[in-house]
Amino acid sequence: MHAAVPHLGIDPAWEAGDPAGLAPEHAQHLAELESLDHELAALYRRGAEVLAGAANPAALDQRRAALLGRERGVITLALGDLPGLPLDERKRRGRGLNQVKRWLAEIEAARRSQLEREAEARAATGLDLTLPGRRPWVGRRHVLAQIQGELLDLFHGMGYSVYTSPEVELEPYNFTKLNFPTDHPARDAHDTYFVRPEVLLRTHTSPGWVRAMEERKPPLRRVFPGRVYRAEHVDATHMDQFHQIDGLFVDRDVSLADLKGTLAAFAREIYGAKIRTRLVPVYFPFVEPGAQMDVACVLCGGTGIEHTPAGEKRCVVCKGTGWLEVLGAGMVHPNVFSAVGYDPEEVTGFAFGMGLERIAMLRYGVPEIRLFLENDLRFLSQF
Ligand SMILES: [Zn+2]
Repeated sequence: MHAAVPHLGIDPAWEAGDPAGLAPEHAQHLAELESLDHELAALYRRGAEVLAGAANPAALDQRRAALLGRERGVITLALGDLPGLPLDERKRRGRGLNQVKRWLAEIEAARRSQLEREAEARAATGLDLTLPGRRPWVGRRHVLAQIQGELLDLFHGMGYSVYTSPEVELEPYNFTKLNFPTDHPARDAHDTYFVRPEVLLRTHTSPGWVRAMEERKPPLRRVFPGRVYRAEHVDATHMDQFHQIDGLFVDRDVSLADLKGTLAAFAREIYGAKIRTRLVPVYFPFVEPGAQMDVACVLCGGTGIEHTPAGEKRCVVCKGTGWLEVLGAGMVHPNVFSAVGYDPEEVTGFAFGMGLERIAMLRYGVPEIRLFLENDLRFLSQF
């Protein structure tokens, strides 16, 4: 066989398959062609084998085009050569070519449905290439970072700028300059991680006040976010590291009323406009007077009683008191001002501090503080 124009041809590299399973009469067809025309028999054998050997629909398409394509397929081109042949040979070969064309088309169709059945079987076992793809994993900010960002936004709007100070701190900044007496229990190695004598992991973010005040004269309005460390026995509500934000406002004639107004604005922003709050006197070395702010319990609404299907019982969140402590605060102690070189007769100020984990636990009803540090995505991706 010769062709007048270059045709696609059968690539010698195409892998062969066994056509017998696709065409029960394959051997008979082959024998028929052998007796008719040796060349046609060779074309049919090779064509049938490469169609049977197509590994996927795309390969089958390519091989079908090479053999049976209407413009440049091998069969089409051979049929185009017929007019140049003597009459009796033209008839014989024309009939043979049409048989080859029909038989190859049948094998191609059989192979195609066989490939489709195999794809369906794979899909049934779990691999389905037609399913939509999975969305790429997109991260998010940690829930504590979200809350910190919210608080910094809030205080930024009230004129506070951020001040950060070292997590490894000198003892005087963590204790002495903040008016902790030398025998205060917090200084004990049982409560504080000492790196070496006089150097420790800060137990609160308040050393930042001292550093900020030593750096510049009042007025001063700063917030101090960061991680702090305490040698706590770890349990559901205590970790040996957690996060705080302190705030400090120093100027002339700053009063307790200013503190109450600031804390009320904070509580409304974080817990909602209707939240009830109270200030309770508490001792901290670095403030005088000192107070803690409580908010009405988020679970029982401040009643101390939890209503359950089994009846009324004492609220587990506030332990029946109706109130939850959310932060510590107070007017800056005159000794702290003296320690940083401010004149306590000239300036006054207030300070407050809160734990981010506690805010998150109350807001989202998280019972277990350790979850915030375990980096379990099943927990973190809920926020
Ligand atoms: Zn309660």
